[in-house]
Amino acid sequence: MNQFKQWFRKFMQGRYGADQLSLSLLGLGLFMWLITLPFNHFIIRLICLVPIVLCYFRIFSKNIYKRQQENFKFIRFYTPILKKQQLLIKRFKERKTHRYFKCPSCKQTLRVPKGKGNISITCPKCKNIFHGRS
Ligand SMILES: [Zn+2]
Repeated sequence: MNQFKQWFRKFMQGRYGADQLSLSLLGLGLFMWLITLPFNHFIIRLICLVPIVLCYFRIFSKNIYKRQQENFKFIRFYTPILKKQQLLIKRFKERKTHRYFKCPSCKQTLRVPKGKGNISITCPKCKNIFHGRS
């Protein structure tokens, strides 16, 4: 076991390794594989393998600069989506204690405690006052 560890460590020297994009590709490949389980066709299986092969290509690649650039682009693309997902999860968790409003003038999302009746809400960003039922 120790010999394998040393061999693997030596093998991975100078290689890029795993990052967010690689792990996302792996997750995408596994997800595609799972949802296409009922369709046992060679072409569909091959298409599911593409993200997984890309993932391992990136992990074992020695062109570190290029892989980093790809990962930066992925993070820049994925961060807004991730933030929206996290906000949706937070809203779902707090659905019994808080209510969310969107400011009509600046579209800022505002959170107010639930069960206070008709309230006037002041947007902290643009100071616009609007009414809502919490
Ligand atoms: Zn506002």
